[in-house]
Amino acid sequence: AHPVVPIALLVFGLVAILLLTIPTKDVQEAPGFMYGIVLDAGSSHTALYIYKWPADKQNGTGVVTQHSECHVKGGGISSYAGQQGAAGKSLEACLDQAVKDIPKERQQITPVYLGATAGMRLLHISSPEVSGQILQEVGHKIQSYPFSYQGAAILSGQEEGSYGWVTVNYLLENFIKYGFIGSWFSPGKPTVGALDFGGASTQITFSTQEEVEDKQDMIKLRLYGQEYSLYTHSFLCYGQDQVLKRLLAHIVKSQGYSGSVTHPCYPAGHNITLKLNSVFNSPCTAQYKPSSNDSQASLMVQGSGHYEHCMSNMSEIFSFDGCPFSQCSFDNVFQPNVTGSFMAFSAFFYVHSFLQRTTSITVRTPSQLEEASKTVCSMTIKQMLLLAPQQKSRLQDYCASTVFVKILMLRGYGFDETSFQHISFQKKAGDASVGWALGYMLSLSSLLPAETVGQRKALTP
Ligand code: AMP
Repeated sequence: AHPVVPIALLVFGLVAILLLTIPTKDVQEAPGFMYGIVLDAGSSHTALYIYKWPADKQNGTGVVTQHSECHVKGGGISSYAGQQGAAGKSLEACLDQAVKDIPKERQQITPVYLGATAGMRLLHISSPEVSGQILQEVGHKIQSYPFSYQGAAILSGQEEGSYGWVTVNYLLENFIKYGFIGSWFSPGKPTVGALDFGGASTQITFSTQEEVEDKQDMIKLRLYGQEYSLYTHSFLCYGQDQVLKRLLAHIVKSQGYSGSVTHPCYPAGHNITLKLNSVFNSPCTAQYKPSSNDSQASLMVQGSGHYEHCMSNMSEIFSFDGCPFSQCSFDNVFQPNVTGSFMAFSAFFYVHSFLQRTTSITVRTPSQLEEASKTVCSMTIKQMLLLAPQQKSRLQDYCASTVFVKILMLRGYGFDETSFQHISFQKKAGDASVGWALGYMLSLSSLLPAETVGQRKALTP
């Protein structure tokens, strides 16, 4: 053969390889995922969520999904008050995990947000300098990681409530849907209200046509070209841990401090001893504090498992009179009538799921809630332990929590026989945890447009 032929073949081959490799590399990398991180610094613990979405597709709902989650060991960041460096250190394991979970080439462009809620709101009330210092310290810790730090802040109650509502409706695809014709459209679906029961506060948020008489509880959101008028209220000191503390403080106050009290919501025969200080160490119990008390003194608490007494004591930590508006939920807080469906998450889910598991009652109606509640309140610790051994440390509190949930939802929020049945108790929707974190990230990044994609395009020249 002519010597030019193999050389020509070689050159041709090299050019072909060159041409083929460039586009192939592009095709492999083009879609990829973008990531975002939210640290939910709650009062009882911190959770780190990683979300992801296709790099070339940002605007639809349902596009952002949860990639992974990590639960920080130990208490919430506010529990490290007075221990310098400890709050930041507690986040290391989950931040290290995030470095492993997110591809190296995306880390620098991954936004990370920390939002603290009612535990830090309370600490901010009792010691503002300490809460500021903790926030700064966790911020520094996060900045020592290869992500794009976007700040550490304490969310207001309104923000916590509305971001929870955004999460719920985003996950249910209530804002917009992708149609067959290849465009996003408003499905005209009604939105779902959000009920969040945290450790230190509880939030109720729903869309309403009624007038919101207290403007502080009203929020207008414009999402994908739709206006939403929301009612939202956060009750500080009405989270599960603070409610249990306040109940105990109320019992001590009403029975008079003599070293021991009878607790009608603790299982009969269940006795514990605790330090008085562990009850009165919170701004939520200040109003019950005996004038002369030795904080190191011990208190013996003797359970009596008495449902009616538990109900009446628990009702007394709410205030149901003196409403200055046309109507109130409680504590002089205006609330329009609840309307539509709701999703109840965090501790609402835990309490509901414990009730169903231990009593075998399906809790869908107010009377089923009452029946299950009575059943739990009449159980001994031993009986509960057989049915829910993993919950050992919480068993003494379930009667109180379920009685609280019943009063809050029925007498407080005003759910009735019909509306109660439209509450779904869940902690996940699809693969994502339900809480304010996803809504927070969507709102703070540019993933939740005010206008629809179509409208925005039309505006661009
Ligand atoms: P979180 O959703 O982590 O902010 O927790 C809210 C409340 O639920 C806190 O009072 C936690 O202590 C409490 N909690 C967490 N897990 C459970 C559970 N399995 N049963 C009952 N309460 C729980």
